Amino acid sequence: MKLAFALLASFALCAVAFAAEPDWPRVEQHATELLQHYVQIASVNPPANTAQAAEFLAHEFAAYGLEAKLFKPDASGKTNLLLRLPGRDRTKRPLLLLNHMDVVPADPSRWKQDPFSALIEGNTMWGRGTLDMKSTAIMQLTALTLLKQLGIVPPRDILFLADCDEETGGALGAGWMIANHWSELNPEYVLDEGAPGSRDLYTSGKLVFGISVADKQVLWLRVRAQGTSGHGSQPIPDNANDILLSAIERAKAFPPSNKPDALVANMRAQLGEFASNKFMNAIQQNTMSLTSLRSGVGNPPKSNVIPSIAEATLDCRLLPGQNAEEFLSEIKARINDPRVTVEELSSKPDDPQPSRTDTPLYRALVSAIEREQPGATVLPVIVPYGTDGQKFRMKGVAAYGLIPMAVDAATLATMHSDSEHIPLDQFRKGLHIYFDILRSES
Ligand SMILES: [Zn+2]
Repeated sequence: MKLAFALLASFALCAVAFAAEPDWPRVEQHATELLQHYVQIASVNPPANTAQAAEFLAHEFAAYGLEAKLFKPDASGKTNLLLRLPGRDRTKRPLLLLNHMDVVPADPSRWKQDPFSALIEGNTMWGRGTLDMKSTAIMQLTALTLLKQLGIVPPRDILFLADCDEETGGALGAGWMIANHWSELNPEYVLDEGAPGSRDLYTSGKLVFGISVADKQVLWLRVRAQGTSGHGSQPIPDNANDILLSAIERAKAFPPSNKPDALVANMRAQLGEFASNKFMNAIQQNTMSLTSLRSGVGNPPKSNVIPSIAEATLDCRLLPGQNAEEFLSEIKARINDPRVTVEELSSKPDDPQPSRTDTPLYRALVSAIEREQPGATVLPVIVPYGTDGQKFRMKGVAAYGLIPMAVDAATLATMHSDSEHIPLDQFRKGLHIYFDILRSES
């Protein structure tokens, strides 16, 4: 009798364990179709009208009995979506899955495919937002709906926040939610976009997955030169264009950061020689990109008129812990020309402490990646771009950024470009990794 009971009990346990395994081929197929539909919603920023994207996600969650709350910070269609899956211990602060619904614009004339068709060719899905970051959002959504579907109650509440305007700084997205609805968030951890896995991005010939624990600081500057206008036939020394060009040249000769970065030093210790590419170059030093030039009189600008004003914008990115004010004074001192002004376009850069890695969630990320990507080296990194996770680090939250797919440096470089794409086999692996993270998170 006892034996029969034990057998029955163990059979029941097996049945539970069996029931807790997703039907992966079906899940992968469904997630791929969802991603296609999601990319087809052109949630371009500006104007960051994410109403349709939010409805789409809310509708999918509703199919699993999960009710999303929509927030509209203004009347322009900008929409944030928040959803909560209750956990076992409601006293624990939640894990927040963070993603942005907006994408940068795409010029269809520069694309081989329609950027919003989400065309699949072999192992590739093309389209704006495939990398940044609708694929990760669908991984997060799928992991969450799987928990619900399989009846797995996580140890703590899990939140899903899809925001509207990350690509223009996040003021009405993550920033607005933090400022106006903090009590509904208050997470212990955030999982956001961040660093990818790659065999050639960090170092050559070694599969490495970065988990970003820090972003570089964002400092946008406008440089404005004032000169004298006149006839193009007679060159003058105070031509605003010439003044601007030489000011930019002097600004760009700023010294590299002299403060060694602990995260970069740790990466070097673990990886040895770094690969040579723009990503690795950018995470090792303060950088400056000339991103726009504006000048000329008339539209189109006249070729024979010397303008009195010329302007440029510079996108500067500083390593964590570098003093932005000192950096700016250094730039001004180098330009050293009373005819040139340098103005800050961005607000004071966020410079939080990098997120700690001695947490159970960080360990869960490492194990989930190692299980799905055997032999991978997983380590904390800095990313050169800014993410919404940084806003949560400012609140003392441990925010980790990952793109749980192995992509080569060339594919990663298609982010924001006219050939953005992802490898679908890696998207499928990412689905497994995210589910594994949520299932094991304690
Ligand atoms: Zn992004």
